[in-house]
Amino acid sequence: MQSFIPTKRTLMGPGPSDVHDRILEAMARPTLGHLDPEFQRMMEELKGGLRALFKTENAMTFPVSAPGSAGMEMCFVNLIEPGDKVVVVKNGVFGERMRENVVRAGGEAVMVEFDWGTAPDVSKVAEVLAANSDTKILAFVHAETSTGVRADAAALCALAREHDCLTIVDAVTSLGGLPVEVDAWGIDAIYSGSQKCLSCTPGLSPVSFSERALARVRARKVPVQSWFLDLSLVMAYWDGTGGRSYHHTAPVNPLYGLHESLVMLFEEGLEESHARHAVMHEGLVAGLEDMGLDFLVHPDIRLPMLNAVKVPDGIDEAAVRAHLLQEYDLEIGAGLGPLAGKVWRIGLMGTSAREENVELCLTALADALGKQQMHVDGLKALEAARKAMSDD
Ligand SMILES: *Cc1c(COP(=O)(O)O)cnc(C)c1O
Repeated sequence: MQSFIPTKRTLMGPGPSDVHDRILEAMARPTLGHLDPEFQRMMEELKGGLRALFKTENAMTFPVSAPGSAGMEMCFVNLIEPGDKVVVVKNGVFGERMRENVVRAGGEAVMVEFDWGTAPDVSKVAEVLAANSDTKILAFVHAETSTGVRADAAALCALAREHDCLTIVDAVTSLGGLPVEVDAWGIDAIYSGSQKCLSCTPGLSPVSFSERALARVRARKVPVQSWFLDLSLVMAYWDGTGGRSYHHTAPVNPLYGLHESLVMLFEEGLEESHARHAVMHEGLVAGLEDMGLDFLVHPDIRLPMLNAVKVPDGIDEAAVRAHLLQEYDLEIGAGLGPLAGKVWRIGLMGTSAREENVELCLTALADALGKQQMHVDGLKALEAARKAMSDD
């Protein structure tokens, strides 16, 4: 075998996004023991940083040692007991993954489905909750990465409260790029991922649980079926108050990386980071629209960090992505499910949400479309994008 030396790509897909050098450097620092007092101090700071990021006082806020899907599973397996009814909002891939989690945890999933590319209609969710008064949990995706749609998280959480059920919220793609207000919105269980707007490497999932959620966990009659994701066991390690004990070996160096990503986020400012995502999105929109391309999602509900762009008629979408990768070392995403072959998904997440990336993407796309006889003026599109990014 020989050392693996990957090519330096620009990552503008649905995640992972570009990882900042500062984060990679942090991860290359000496590995400490996972119970070393110095490491434990870092853990406490990390938990505090995540609370500030999630805008919560929840003590039970920490990173799960596994990717976003594990954070998702931790929320579902701890809060659901066999037979529990869970209303799941689905308007893309990740709502379906929530349904899978409900069923595998022994719950009953009641689905409220919306067309891909549209937002959940809060009044329709209200009807379903009213018709299912024994619902224990409402679960929904804040930022649906498969379509680029934002859900009205505040309204859905308020609705759940009215119907006296807990909420499980997927904030994998939104956290760091859009406001997420755990306490103000009354979210009970939330999970995110390190590799999207937090610009860290993949493999960690920040989560937070409210007191109401913890009361539900403590009142369980059936033990959590997963040993690794059982909140009460994991907390023996992450809760520093009663002394820490070994549960699993924490991924020490990746946690340095997440810590550094929070340091960088707070240096910039959370609001400033949200604003940067919005401005880069406006630049990309201006450039792509100048090239005559259309967006899948209505502007009112578009995500800034995930842009679903319609593939023009007659264009081979896979060939465009291949050209970008080969000639520009640039990765963008393909459509999933019913959107396969119909859209590209262009990510502007974390470190990837910057002017150079917007400009590279427009230049590369204009070239790739030209190769397929769709001639667009790349320079004019760049000008439109630059104007939109400097206006703000
Ligand atoms: C990426 C993503 C996940 C899954 O995260 P992994 O780290 O890939 O496991 C879950 N939900 C949404 C909305 C995502 O975008």
